[in-house]
Amino acid sequence: MAKNIQAIRGMNDYLPEETAFWQRVEGTLKDVLASYGYSEIRLPIVEQTPLFQRAIGEVTDVVEKEMYSFADRNGDRLTLRPEGTAGCVRAGIEHGLLYNQEQRLWYVGPMFRYERPQKGRYRQFHQMGAEVFGQQGPDVDAELILLTARWWRALGIHEHVALELNSIGSLEARARYREALVAFLRQHEDRLDEDCRRRMHTNPMRVLDTKNPDIQALLNDAPVLTDYLDDDSQAHFSGLCELLDLAGIPYTVNPRLVRGLDYYNRTVFEWVTTRLGSQGTVCGGGRYDGLVEQLGGRATPAVGFAMGLERLVLLVQAVNPDFAAAARIDAYLVAAGDGVQREALRLAEQLRDAMPSLRLMTNYGGGSFKKQFSRADKHGARVALVLGESEAAVGQVLVKDLATGNQETLAQSDVAARLASILG
Ligand code: ATP
Ligand code: MG
Repeated sequence: MAKNIQAIRGMNDYLPEETAFWQRVEGTLKDVLASYGYSEIRLPIVEQTPLFQRAIGEVTDVVEKEMYSFADRNGDRLTLRPEGTAGCVRAGIEHGLLYNQEQRLWYVGPMFRYERPQKGRYRQFHQMGAEVFGQQGPDVDAELILLTARWWRALGIHEHVALELNSIGSLEARARYREALVAFLRQHEDRLDEDCRRRMHTNPMRVLDTKNPDIQALLNDAPVLTDYLDDDSQAHFSGLCELLDLAGIPYTVNPRLVRGLDYYNRTVFEWVTTRLGSQGTVCGGGRYDGLVEQLGGRATPAVGFAMGLERLVLLVQAVNPDFAAAARIDAYLVAAGDGVQREALRLAEQLRDAMPSLRLMTNYGGGSFKKQFSRADKHGARVALVLGESEAAVGQVLVKDLATGNQETLAQSDVAARLASILG
């Protein structure tokens, strides 16, 4: 017999049990975004490969090793998006959304990276992110951080995430720092691995991003970028810190935080947790004032972040499992007897007309009352509505509260009011 075809490694199915949780999480996140006046933008999953090469940078993990790229039937080089910012900037330029305008945008959707799958790291994963264009002051950097802090509170995980913050300054400041860093790395070249040795020449800042613990230890003695910051970036950074202090958001300045993509400048930040092993970064972002111009638009200040939904969901499940405890349906309509099924369909539609937010599931295919009640349980119903031949004949229905066991027989026209009082 032929072997069953399976899903691609690192690309997950999200089954109905999980999607209920996901929907609640996403709904909460979207409500908070709306409360800050941000608008959704929806972008293609496939873009031209050079977009990511130019935006993210040639010498980065993502572009060197992680992109899913292919030639389409015309021979065009295409890539499944590994992140959302490049496409967002591309769209902003293409549709004239950016120049001399202010935009506060968010997106959500799947991203693709060829990585070694493990808990919290997948090949298809989902990010929700926000991007703000047209504002150069630190107040909008602070707003994005406050927005994410509000997310964590709404999800009940705020005690399990910590904010790390840094400024990586201007291009010129980084060029000066780069020289000092390369000089240091040359002195210790024998202790670098192959990857870092190569990066020392191509993109030395990337060495700071290494996951090799021996090299991380070595880097403790390396020069720090903070000492090379330009005055404007310094002022921007202290402005941001002051706003966060005022808002009561605790943070740690981490001078080694540089982030993995080339387009950042000035502010960079990450929200990290100790609850997810080595996949501890839940959300990361920063300023990218040069990217719009670099992709062919007119210079536009910009700042944004991306949050990994799988890691967020894992964290909510670990520290606040009640968040998704809500029943999946409110009521289950048990129907048995001659000609009753037709009546059940009619009653269910009538109840949905009367109560648009009611989640009501109707039993199909018959079965004993016992069997139907166990289906009601399995679907997590709070209430069972029972329609047998005797009830159907006189336009009544039995309403049973499955939490308390209380039940009563009512005229069908009174059921909506009774349901409303049970369900609160
Ligand atoms: P890491 O250092 O863990 O590889 P990153 O710096 O590559 O993360 P970003 O590019 O900043 O991550 O993406 C933002 C967020 O998206 C991450 O903080 C993480 O929550 C999530 N993320 C990134 N890569 C993956 C992945 N392969 N699987 C699941 N989530 C991911
Ligand atoms: Mg990565």
